[in-house]
Amino acid sequence: MQTLQKLSKRLYYLPSYQKTDRPILAAIVGNDQTLFIDAGNSSSHARLFKEQLASQQVFGDIVAITHWHWDHVFGLSEMDMPSIANSMTFDNIKVLQKYSWENQALDERVQKGIEIPFCADAIKLELGRNREVNLPDPTIIFDKQLKLNLGGVTCMIEHVGGDHSPDSNILYIPEEKALFLGDCLYANMYAEKWHYTIENMSMLLEKIESYDANFYFLSHHAAPLTKDEFSSFAFLLKTSALLTKKHKGKREAIAVDISKEFGLELTDDVAEVIGYFVNGYV
Ligand SMILES: [Zn+2]
Repeated sequence: MQTLQKLSKRLYYLPSYQKTDRPILAAIVGNDQTLFIDAGNSSSHARLFKEQLASQQVFGDIVAITHWHWDHVFGLSEMDMPSIANSMTFDNIKVLQKYSWENQALDERVQKGIEIPFCADAIKLELGRNREVNLPDPTIIFDKQLKLNLGGVTCMIEHVGGDHSPDSNILYIPEEKALFLGDCLYANMYAEKWHYTIENMSMLLEKIESYDANFYFLSHHAAPLTKDEFSSFAFLLKTSALLTKKHKGKREAIAVDISKEFGLELTDDVAEVIGYFVNGYV
C-alpha cells in the first residue's frame, strides 16, 4: 500500500504504484482551498488518498486532471468535488463515459487497436470484479492556461501537449518550486510502436524549462526528481533527439555517439529513450 508523503506543509503526495499503474496523486494546501492533482485510477485509489490526507486534517476542494488516460480519471466520482480539465481532456472523458470496462469489451477494443494491452491488463487488475466506472463531466473547462489562487499558494495550469497525450497539462506551484508533469514526458503508447518525436519533445522541453523548479513530479516515477536529476533526464532526451536527427534514426550510430561524444553510459534506460526516438523517426 502506498503511504502519503509530506514534502512541506503545503504539499503532500501519494507515491505511484507500478503493479496496477497508479500514478502519483498530490494535494496543494492553500489557506482557503486545497487542490488535488489527478483523480486516481479507481475509487479505491482515490479513497486511499483522501483517507490518508484526512488523518492529517487535509481535505480537498477541487481536483485538476493532468490528461484523460484512465489511470488519472477513474477516481473522479469518488473524489466528489469540482474538477478542472482542458477542453481536449473533457472531450476524451466524454468518449470514455460510453465504454464498458468488462473483459469482453476491453478485449474487443484492444483487438481494434483503440485500447492497448498494457492498460487493459492494469484496468482488470486494479478494478477486479467491479467494472462499474462512474465518470462525471469535468466542471471547469479551459483551453490554454488557468491560474488558481488557493490562498497563500497559487497554481498555474498550462496545456502543453506532447507525444504521450495531446491533451497533457503541466501544473506549476511557484511558492513550492514544484512542477507536476503528469505523463507528458513519457512516450506515445497508443501507437504501433511506443515512440517520441523530435519536434514534440523539443517543444515540450522548452516549455518545461521556462519554469524554475526544485521538484519535478513525473506521475509514474517513484518519487519527484530533484533539479539535478531532472537536468540529467532532460539532457538525455535532448541528446537523443539531436542524435536521432543527425543519424537519421539509425539506432547503432546513435548509441555509439551518445557514449563517445556525450559520455552517457548505455544503460537500459538510455537504450529505451533512444529506442523511442528511433521508433518515432520518419
Ligand atoms: Zn498517460
